[in-house]
Amino acid sequence: MVVTPRTQEEIQAMRTGGKILAEALEMMREATVPGITTAEIDARVREFFKQKGVEPAFLGYYGFTGAVCISVNEEIIHGVPKQDKVIQEGDIVSLDCGVLHNGMVVDSARTFGVGEIPEEARLLIERTKKSFFKGVSKLKDGAWTGDFGQACEEYLDKFGYGIIRDYAGHGVGRAVHEDPTIPNYGTKGTGFQLQEGMTIALEPMVTLGAEETYVDADDDWTVLPVDHSLSAHYEHTVLITKNGVEILTQL
Ligand code: MG
Ligand code: MG
Repeated sequence: MVVTPRTQEEIQAMRTGGKILAEALEMMREATVPGITTAEIDARVREFFKQKGVEPAFLGYYGFTGAVCISVNEEIIHGVPKQDKVIQEGDIVSLDCGVLHNGMVVDSARTFGVGEIPEEARLLIERTKKSFFKGVSKLKDGAWTGDFGQACEEYLDKFGYGIIRDYAGHGVGRAVHEDPTIPNYGTKGTGFQLQEGMTIALEPMVTLGAEETYVDADDDWTVLPVDHSLSAHYEHTVLITKNGVEILTQL
């Protein structure tokens, strides 16, 4: 496996794209109110990217028909924007989106509640986010992908949550998905050794129950846990640095 550290020019393109992506996610979060369709959220982010002069990285990727994946409640990832999918009060919504800017891709996701949500849903969202930061705190030049996985898994296991195994974090930059693959579980000191200058997307996908998944046969995209338990997702693209990471997809 060949994973090439990025040039300064490439990193700068990802920083710029990452800020725009973070703004887009914030804009979509504000737009996600009861009554809006997921197709309308998708239309708004397309318009937003047009105004900013960047491309949606996911549109057309393996034939995906949206600019953003919108996964609601038990849907984990890859939800396809639809005209007849209407957001309701009490839903938990995951937005996963990508930007292509000056030839470079960034990838990031957030999960949040719409209005009042049950306490168990709120905690799932909060802890999924926290697992990302537990994992990321282990990373720097010379760290292993398993260092991230172990820290993530150790934290989430305390709550008895399901950690999705069929999907994982990944290298990102010239393409949406590059080597290495970075699972959200594992053993420290194993996997792939990271170097300063590499750019990766880290993305815990967590459920209140099952770890096993299936793909919705109606759209051939949406990934769900076999027990249909509530699911959350949190993702940033990060740059590995000498002493830690730089998160590229935040404001
Ligand atoms: Mg993503
Ligand atoms: Mg990703």
